Amino acid sequence: MALKVSKSDIQKMFEHGEESYPYECCGVLIGTPGESAVVVEVQRLTNVNKEMPTRRYDVDPLELAKADSEAEAKGLQIIGIYHSHPDHPARPSKYDLNHAWRYLSYIVMSIENGKAKEITSWRLNEKKQFEQEELIIVEKTTEVV
Ligand SMILES: [Zn+2]
Repeated sequence: MALKVSKSDIQKMFEHGEESYPYECCGVLIGTPGESAVVVEVQRLTNVNKEMPTRRYDVDPLELAKADSEAEAKGLQIIGIYHSHPDHPARPSKYDLNHAWRYLSYIVMSIENGKAKEITSWRLNEKKQFEQEELIIVEKTTEVV
């Protein structure tokens, strides 16, 4: 499993994570699915979690539905979700695991003291456990689709 992302999209996710600190940020990965999926664009979503937004995120279902139809109109689809872990490692939590959907890629970024530190990507396997996938960072992803 691998996920290809452009440098500028990594930058956009890092900026979102840093701006949202000390709260978690979240957003969607839009692109083409597969064993080797390609992110064509990233889009911010609002973290609507009210109980513990420094440790959890919930995507706004209306924003998600809107992002989904916009992606479809471009011949793309939602292939994953990204979110940040303020002052926590870039690996999915138990909560993340319990709320994950199969086939999607989950990008997790650690934001330490307001600065983006690490970025990783994960997918569920058949046993419903997260497996880290290769994150391939390239200059541009649009041509390789
Ligand atoms: Zn998380």
